[in-house]
Amino acid sequence: AQYYNLSGWGAGFFSVNEKGHVVVHPMGQPGPVIDLMDVVEDIRERNIGFPCVVRFQDVLRARVKQINEAFGKAIAEMSYGARYYGVFPVKVNQMREVVEEILDAGAPYHYGLEAGSKGELLVVLGMNADPEALTICNGYKDEEFLRLALLGRKLGRKVIVVIEKLSELPHLLRLADELGVEPMIGLRSKLTTRGTGKWEGSSGDFAKFGLTVPELIHAVRILKEARKEHCAKLLHFHVGSQLTEIRVVKDAVNEGARVYAKLRKMGLPIEYFDVGGGLGVDYVGTHSNGYTSSVNYTMDEYVGDIVYNVQRVCMNEGVPEPHIVSESGRAVTAHHSCIIMNVFGQIEIGSVEEIAQASIPQPNEPKVVREMREIVASMTPRNRAEAYHDAAAKKEEALQMFKLGILGLEERAVVESLFWKLVRGIADLNRGKKRLPRETKDLGDKIADQYMANFSLFQSAPDHWAFDQLFPIVPVHRMGEAPTRDTTIVDITCDSDGKIDRFIEGDGVDETLSLHALRPGEPYYLGMFMTGAYQDIMGDMHNLFGRVNEIHVFVDDEDPEDFYIEEVIPGDTIEKVLSRVQYEPADLFRRVKTALDQKVKEGAIRPKEGVSLQDFYESVMKGYTYLGGV
Ligand code: PLP
Repeated sequence: AQYYNLSGWGAGFFSVNEKGHVVVHPMGQPGPVIDLMDVVEDIRERNIGFPCVVRFQDVLRARVKQINEAFGKAIAEMSYGARYYGVFPVKVNQMREVVEEILDAGAPYHYGLEAGSKGELLVVLGMNADPEALTICNGYKDEEFLRLALLGRKLGRKVIVVIEKLSELPHLLRLADELGVEPMIGLRSKLTTRGTGKWEGSSGDFAKFGLTVPELIHAVRILKEARKEHCAKLLHFHVGSQLTEIRVVKDAVNEGARVYAKLRKMGLPIEYFDVGGGLGVDYVGTHSNGYTSSVNYTMDEYVGDIVYNVQRVCMNEGVPEPHIVSESGRAVTAHHSCIIMNVFGQIEIGSVEEIAQASIPQPNEPKVVREMREIVASMTPRNRAEAYHDAAAKKEEALQMFKLGILGLEERAVVESLFWKLVRGIADLNRGKKRLPRETKDLGDKIADQYMANFSLFQSAPDHWAFDQLFPIVPVHRMGEAPTRDTTIVDITCDSDGKIDRFIEGDGVDETLSLHALRPGEPYYLGMFMTGAYQDIMGDMHNLFGRVNEIHVFVDDEDPEDFYIEEVIPGDTIEKVLSRVQYEPADLFRRVKTALDQKVKEGAIRPKEGVSLQDFYESVMKGYTYLGGV
C-alpha cells in the first residue's frame, strides 16, 4: 500500500486489509468497513460487467456532514454572529441519487443547491423544497431562466438570482414587477484576486462572469432608482475550482469582505456572503509540493480562514457579520465514487520470450547482428551510456539495411530484440538510483509495460485528458505482494491520447505506476478513485463507449461489516449510443438481415447459420459498449 499513498489522498475513507484488498470506510475511521473485492465479486455474480462505477453514498453523506460541521464549529468557536448556509452546485454531479443523498444528509443544516442553467434550475426547483435552504442561480440567464427563478419565489423558496452581467438586473426587476413577486438578488463581484492552479481563469479582470467595481456601483444605482435595494441579499464571488494555495482563499475572502462592507454602507442590506467553490481536494496526498492536483491546506483550515477573515473585516468596517455561503462541489463529491476496471492484457516492448529467443546465436548471422550481440554482451554499469549509444546506432544501421533490401525481416527482429535486451538491462541497473547518465535516465519509463484496461479515459476521467489532472489508480487486490512491473495504462478507445502516463506513486508523482505481473487466466482489477466530481457528467462519447454501468453501495445498518447494493444503473447499450448519433438500430438490423438472406438464397450460408448470425448481430446491438469476455 505504501506504493499508492492511500493514507495521503484517501481522507480516511480508504485503506488496505490483511487480505491485501482495498477497503472503504464509508463513514470514516473507525466505523463500518467494506472490502472492495467483495463488491467486485458481487458485480461479477450479477453479471454487471466492467468497467463499473461504484458509488459509496455513505461517503457522500460523510462529506456533507463534515463541511457543515466544520463551519458550525468555527462559527461557534469564534462567536461569529451569523450562520453557514452551504449549497451544492449540481453541475459537479447532477445524478439524481447524488443530489437526493446530499439534500437528505444536509437537511439538518438547511443545505441548499446551486444551478447554473435552466435544466439545472428545473431540477433544483423540483428537489429543494426547504424554505430556509438557499437556491442560488449562477450563469448567464435568459428570460425563461429568470422567470423560473421567480416561480421559485412564488413558491416561497429562497431563490437568489446572482447577477453575472449588468443587463440581467433591469430584466429581472421588470419580470419580478410583472409577476408581482419580490426577487432575491445576488451580485457577483469580479475580484482581482486570482486563483492558482488549473482553473485560475475564473477570476481576475478578464474573467467571464461577474461585475467589475464600476459595474457594481452602477448596479447599486439601478437598485436604488427602482427602490429595490432591499432585494439585494447576497454578494458572490468565485476565484476558481481546486484552489491549490490557502493564501489565495484568504486574499479573495479579504477582498470580497471589503466589497461586502462597502456595499452595505451604500445601503444594500446584504445578508449572505457567498465565497463560491474552490475548496480543493488532495488527489495526490502530498499536501501540495507544487502539484496542482494537490492542495496545501485542509478543510478545517479553509473554513477557519473564511470565518476569521470575514469577521475581522466586518469588525474593522463596523458592519454586521453576514451568513456565510459556500458552493463546494468537488470537496463534497470527489471521494464518493470510483471506477473499477479489469486489465485484460499488456503490451510489452521486448518481451521476455522474444529476448530469450534472440539471445541464442544462430550460425551464419549477418555482421550487424553479431555486432549488436557484442555490444549487448560487453555492457557494464560503467559503460552503459556508451553501450546505449552504440546499440541505438546499430539498430538504425539495421533499419537502413532492411530498407535497402539487404537484411531480412527475421534478422531485423533479432537486432531489435537484442536492443530491447540492452535497454531492459540498463533500466534494471538504473532502478532506484537518483544520479544517472542523462541519456539513459528515462529508459525505464520508455520500456514500461502498457497495461490495457477496459475503460474509456474520455468517458471516465476527462479531466486527466484535458488538464493532466491526476486521479489515484490502485490495484483493488494483491496489495500484500510487492508490485514488480513498471507500467503505463492504455484505454480501449482507438486514440493514442487514451492513455495514462502520470501517476500518484509513493509520496510523489511518476511517469509509471508499479503494478503486479498479470497471471494467465486470473483477472486483475484496478480502481480509479476520487472520480465523483465532474468526471461522471463531463464524460463524452468518444468511440461510442458511452455511460458506464453503475452500482450504489450502502453500509448494512444491521451488520457494519456488510453492505448492500441499492441500485444498479445499467451503462449505455450499443443500440442507445447509435441512436444518439442518428442511426436507427432496427434499420441497421434490417440491412444486415437482407444481406444475410441474400447469401442464404445463394446457398453460401445455411439457413440455420443465417438465423444464428442475425441473432448474434442483434444481441451485440443490445449489449454493453465496453469489452466483455474474450
Ligand atoms: N460555484 C461556481 C460559480 C463555480 O463556477 C464552480 C466551479 O467552478 C463551483 C461553484 C464549484 O467549485 P468547486 O467544485 O471547486 O467546489
